[in-house]
Amino acid sequence: MSLMELNLSNEEYLSEKYLKHMVLDFVQMHHFMREPLVFDHGEDIWVWDVKGEKYLDGISGVWVTSLGHSNKRVIEAVKAQLDNLIFASPILSTNTRAIELVEMLGQIMPEGLTTIKILSGGSEATETAMKLVRQYFDQTGRPHKKTIISRYLNFHGVTLGALTATGMANRKAPFEPLCGGFRHIAPPYCIRCPYNLTYPECDVLCARFLEQAIIYEGPDNVAAFMAEPIQLSTGNIVPPEEYWPIIRQICDKYDVMIILDEVATGMGRTGRWWGSDTFNFVPDVLCMGKGMAAGYMPLSGVAFRDEVAQVFISEDNERAFADGHTYGGNPIACAAGIAVLQELHDRNLVECCNQMGQYMMKRLEDLKEFGVVGDIRGAGLMIGIEFVQNSETMEPFPGELNFGVRVGRNCILNQHMLIRYAPNWVALAPPFIVTEIEIDEMVSRLGQAIIAVLAQVRG
Ligand code: PLP
Repeated sequence: MSLMELNLSNEEYLSEKYLKHMVLDFVQMHHFMREPLVFDHGEDIWVWDVKGEKYLDGISGVWVTSLGHSNKRVIEAVKAQLDNLIFASPILSTNTRAIELVEMLGQIMPEGLTTIKILSGGSEATETAMKLVRQYFDQTGRPHKKTIISRYLNFHGVTLGALTATGMANRKAPFEPLCGGFRHIAPPYCIRCPYNLTYPECDVLCARFLEQAIIYEGPDNVAAFMAEPIQLSTGNIVPPEEYWPIIRQICDKYDVMIILDEVATGMGRTGRWWGSDTFNFVPDVLCMGKGMAAGYMPLSGVAFRDEVAQVFISEDNERAFADGHTYGGNPIACAAGIAVLQELHDRNLVECCNQMGQYMMKRLEDLKEFGVVGDIRGAGLMIGIEFVQNSETMEPFPGELNFGVRVGRNCILNQHMLIRYAPNWVALAPPFIVTEIEIDEMVSRLGQAIIAVLAQVRG
């Protein structure tokens, strides 16, 4: 057999002949092959497709490329590591870069979260976190503490455990039956309150209900409450400020751990190092991913307290944490992670993210003049814009109109700006190196897309 070398033309990259052999994430390939997007190179906050068209990366890939697409320090660190050591067996050893990364992360983690298991993807992190708390309770004389309570509308990944914790029916339906031992409660979604209450008169019932859920399930059976600090995949839903402190209190009362899914919000995305800093509490277990190596390598991790780590340290092999992934702690990925941390720290980029996020929020207010922007929300450079039919009553557009999807598609295809979209919202999350001028440009392109879709809808 000979291996055929490919030397494809730009047209060929876009042709169905090749694309039909691909499967993208959550993407209907039938539609994709009609309007394919194939990128070839990138620089700073810009990427170019194979036709040579230039796009603004308004969503950092998927909340990932916080340093943009051409950071010299990270590229050099990865190249140097390739010449040094490319792999170290995770079942026999660790490696110098992994040790350094864990120590450096320890310096920026929420207080006390000093033990870190390094992994490669966000779903690996959330899955590992849930297994960690279950084995922890198993080995501390509370073997019935297994139930994980999470929230409707949250997203925690696609492996079967992470998907079971996820609260989005459309993501889960094809894979039922999922795992046992999971329950869900309502999310904090003030403008569409699931209890039909109004903040602050509601007394943050969505947080207080967790106590009732733990009592119903039996505190001896509940291991953890898992949630995202800001709900990303449903348009950056931000809880009221009391939400997380109330959750912390309830979890302490019933010896239930908080697993905070910071896969998207972590590593500075909210304008602070962690979403938990933004909401002023410390979780028991923190999952990180996405921005951790800023797209230069796959990298994720789970951080937890030393008291938890100690439960796995023993003469008995069977008490070791029974979990691992082949690429966890890979030295090239860890070298990228170290360089990302250094860049974020030395260039004060988390504060830049905070400042630019505030600027972007302010500029986005201009879009309210179209009468269809109901809510602009988020923290740092993760901002969601919810569209409504009537911004006085907040009445949503009919689902079949797909207003947000149309705005998002228009942004990408006509305005050449990458954006995340859903039927009722779009989200922006540019790299932390974005400038005010580039933010002005993003807001202007989003405005043009809204105008174009309104013209279609209103005739
Ligand atoms: N958790 C959250 C909050 C996410 O947004 C995602 C991905 O979007 C994941 C977990 C899963 O991460 P991954 O796609 O790297 O497996």
